[in-house]
Amino acid sequence: MSNFLFPPALPPSLPVLGSNRRFPVHRVYCVGRNFADHAREMGAETPLEVPVFFSKPADSLVIGGGDMAYPLATEDLHHEVELVVALCAGSRGPVDRKTATNMVFGHAVGVDLTRRDRQAEAKAGRLPWDVAKGFDRSAPISALTAFEDWRPSDQSIWMDVNGERRQSGKLDQMIHDAAAAVSALSRLFELRAGDLLFMGTPAGVGPLVPGDDWEAGIEGLPRLRGHILRD
Ligand code: MN
Repeated sequence: MSNFLFPPALPPSLPVLGSNRRFPVHRVYCVGRNFADHAREMGAETPLEVPVFFSKPADSLVIGGGDMAYPLATEDLHHEVELVVALCAGSRGPVDRKTATNMVFGHAVGVDLTRRDRQAEAKAGRLPWDVAKGFDRSAPISALTAFEDWRPSDQSIWMDVNGERRQSGKLDQMIHDAAAAVSALSRLFELRAGDLLFMGTPAGVGPLVPGDDWEAGIEGLPRLRGHILRD
């Protein structure tokens, strides 16, 4: 018998394509402004030489997408389709690109849901981004595809809403690739097996409203689909 006051939550875990084993999630990190065209549409002029990071709680993941209620406290929910990198090894200190690549277990398609109105307030008031980015069910994510079956190069990445293409780009447009981003992240945090890194979104971000059907895709990875419920 444990002496926990109440049962601790199990970690969220992702299915792995072609396997009956699951990937237990530790932390969820995100890269901001990693596509120049998206940085421009958000009003940022110069690309960042060092990636900017924020995070979401691990329990904000929505594994496999599906139906979700429109979130609280926003009137401007936005979609951001992203490549997600999953780590199966950690580091206690900075790692170089080669080591970072060796720490990658595989990849998934994710959506960085954003309360854009709250983010605008945070930017204007120089306030933290948690309310804008780290809310409940803010991170739909697909199953993982192992690194030996798929690796990022110049594949297309897109987001459709109600059958219309909203976002479209290529993974080689990322300013910082996975190796560079993981290496930069390792200078700020002790990385652990189970960490996820959302890699940033191409241009075309826009609203999701009740009743919308959306589909997020990356060439060669499983599609991620969802629906925003009407009340
Ligand atoms: Mn994002």
